[in-house]
Amino acid sequence: MSSKRPFSKKLTQPVVGQVIATYGRQYEVKTSNGSVLTCVMRGKKGGIACGDHVEILPTTPGQGVIETILPRSNLLYRSDVFRQKLIAANVTQLIIVVAAVPSFSEELIDRCLIAAENQHIKVLILLNKADLLEQTRAAATMLSYYQFLGYPMLSISAAQDIAPLRSYLQGQISVLTGQSGMGKSTIINALIPDARRATMEISTALDSGRHTTTHTRLYRLDAESCVIDSPGLQEFGLHHIDSRELAGCFIEFRPYLGQCHFHNCRHITEPDCALLLAAQNGKINARRLAVYHKLMTLAENQKAW
Ligand code: GDP
Ligand code: ZN
Repeated sequence: MSSKRPFSKKLTQPVVGQVIATYGRQYEVKTSNGSVLTCVMRGKKGGIACGDHVEILPTTPGQGVIETILPRSNLLYRSDVFRQKLIAANVTQLIIVVAAVPSFSEELIDRCLIAAENQHIKVLILLNKADLLEQTRAAATMLSYYQFLGYPMLSISAAQDIAPLRSYLQGQISVLTGQSGMGKSTIINALIPDARRATMEISTALDSGRHTTTHTRLYRLDAESCVIDSPGLQEFGLHHIDSRELAGCFIEFRPYLGQCHFHNCRHITEPDCALLLAAQNGKINARRLAVYHKLMTLAENQKAW
């Protein structure tokens, strides 16, 4: 047998790492030995999220190619008819940042909750700008329904004191999401004094400032805790969720599921529907049911939702 082996790049062993930043089709991967490489995905495929564990092949110094995405425990993303926008992978907690000013959309909160429930990710509703006492009181009343449903809520003033948030982050891989203007950057900068510098370095490296607000980045707080900052959003498409799974993503609907007359009840107009009956009896909030109906109608008509 010939001892000759064809020269191949396989001689370079793959290295395991975690995606700590995504911007466009480029990714920063932190390897298990602590170095950070700028990587692209082999081929043209996208589909890599911040928080993903990957195998990479180093190419030139400081650079590599992502060969494999390792199995995920979950993947948080939004979508429309045309494309998916990956938010983060392998997270344990979604923090929905809201504030009284500018006004926030309740339906956007519902949509974030649906995406989280669909991926079995726990949620914290973070009401920021609590120093704006008068406006915050009304917002807190509005949000108290989510607390009633069982979602934890915390009021803070990130501009004044971030400390109350810290215990909620301990031991978690948290991803922050929310409409622009709610204070997400203020929260990140208060938690991670280096954050602004990291963002600046990226934009310098890419020779463009426009990426600074559109990338997603994972920051390590301590050995057990990370926080992922994702771009501010105005809409949260749920096109990827199977309409048959939608009702189960509303936590207060769950006790009634499987109790309708028809086993494949869509809970819209069907007779003897346990969910509609519960709504009639005031056990299910009419606004939440209306959101469910709206989303079901969009899903069933193959519209973007
Ligand atoms: P982002 O778009 O979610 O990243 O929001 P920013 O962090 O840029 O904050 C939007 C605006 O809200 C800025 O003018 C902040 O100074 C302000 N802001 C952030 N946190 C607080 C807060 O706790 N209290 C008040 N009153 N304003 C805040
Ligand atoms: Zn039903």
